[in-house]
Amino acid sequence: MNGIHDLLSKPFRIVDISQPIKSDSACFPGDTPFSREVTVSHQESQVINLTALTMSPHVGTHVDAPVHVRGSMDSNTETVGSMSLDPFVGLVEVIDIAPFVGAIKPEHIEGHLKTNATRLLIRTSHQIRYQVFEDSYAFLSTEVVDWLYKRGTRLVGLDSPSVDDTQSKTLCAHHGLLARDIFWLENLDLTAASCGEYFLVAAPLKFMELEASPVRALLLDWSTH
Ligand SMILES: [Zn+2]
Repeated sequence: MNGIHDLLSKPFRIVDISQPIKSDSACFPGDTPFSREVTVSHQESQVINLTALTMSPHVGTHVDAPVHVRGSMDSNTETVGSMSLDPFVGLVEVIDIAPFVGAIKPEHIEGHLKTNATRLLIRTSHQIRYQVFEDSYAFLSTEVVDWLYKRGTRLVGLDSPSVDDTQSKTLCAHHGLLARDIFWLENLDLTAASCGEYFLVAAPLKFMELEASPVRALLLDWSTH
């Protein structure tokens, strides 16, 4: 256990790469925004505050499960709670191609990569407008999905709302990633993360009946970059 103790005894910084979730957080047109109901108030009960929440699990920083784009929600298979956690915890490289809008191709990222990390987060915006659903944003081309697979990538993350174009009905990137066992994070906020290698912690919650889950995505930083 010396190794882990040596590592954790060194000071590290936590970089929060999650978007805030509030009533006015942006969500896909037609999707369910976050809302909260106070079901018990401390003022009235003199004991506790209690709330109930309603939201699409795609609001804010989140993981999509395979059942988001294939299969039936009735079968409760391939849900977010049953996903392997390995892709979401471990060494990760952050690269910066901001400002970028449109299809990301291999030539847009290959010159930026400095490590062999199997997790890759791509910063495409200098600034995130949390309340605005951006009509045009960066997404993954089928070429880059294939390129990432050949490189051994297990997880890719974007600071945009989807790995596919907002107009896409075929969801080529979602299906291409799934077919290659690559998982993804959407709606990251990488504005506070400079390029380099980190330790990523971004596990989905164990929702056994959902097609996605919010994550609190963190980068642990032992270096000064
Ligand atoms: Zn999603």
